[in-house]
Amino acid sequence: MKGRVCGFQSMGAVDGPGLRCVVFAQGCPLRCAYCHNPESWAADGGYAVSVDELAAKIERLRPYIIKNGGVTLSGGEPLMQPDFAAALFRELKARGCHTALDTSGACGTRGAAEVLRCTDLVICDIKFTTEEDYARYCGGSLAPVMEFLALTAEMKKPLWLRQVIVPEINDGAAEAARLGELARGFANLERLELLPFRKICAAKYEKLGIAFPLKDYPECPTERIAELQRAAGIRRP
Ligand code: SF4
Repeated sequence: MKGRVCGFQSMGAVDGPGLRCVVFAQGCPLRCAYCHNPESWAADGGYAVSVDELAAKIERLRPYIIKNGGVTLSGGEPLMQPDFAAALFRELKARGCHTALDTSGACGTRGAAEVLRCTDLVICDIKFTTEEDYARYCGGSLAPVMEFLALTAEMKKPLWLRQVIVPEINDGAAEAARLGELARGFANLERLELLPFRKICAAKYEKLGIAFPLKDYPECPTERIAELQRAAGIRRP
């Protein structure tokens, strides 16, 4: 089984527990205004790789990731290639690896159950909590995301929810409170994280010749994240 990927990180420390190999799947149905990986958008971009090739590469890093870490499949959007994601996670589970799926949930439940069966942790970036904002800033719909999240709850998969906070767009206390309420509606929620908007991706846009929609927006101050965490009812960062 082959899939298309746009990158591989040997030692990631932010996409799940412990030290992790991160595989970046190619292709994404969304166009988030703050996207840090615009090179991952086109479904036919990146390069083809087989599950066996990836598993062999990950095997070489096993001593570093096997104890407390694991493998995270990120993107792009990994659920654009659900058969590949399921095959990769099945192989990794057979090798005793912890698997985390880092997704927007925007593909809904299509092919998702098969992937979730071999997923130990779901990390879902919920982006926005209203249809209006989701359409305006991501070019998608919140409805399939909610269906995907309901499936993770039904399958009792541990869930981390995330949201990137952009000043002047979603940095209000009311938005944070709405996010907190939505998050607590999922019995499988383990963690809710607010991430500050940063602009380190601006150079990538320039290189690709694409306009960066948020180039004139300020980055999010760390202190604002702490305030919004309180508004969202988050006890741990
Ligand atoms: S879901 Fe992720 S990869 Fe896709 S556009 Fe949004 S931020 Fe970029």
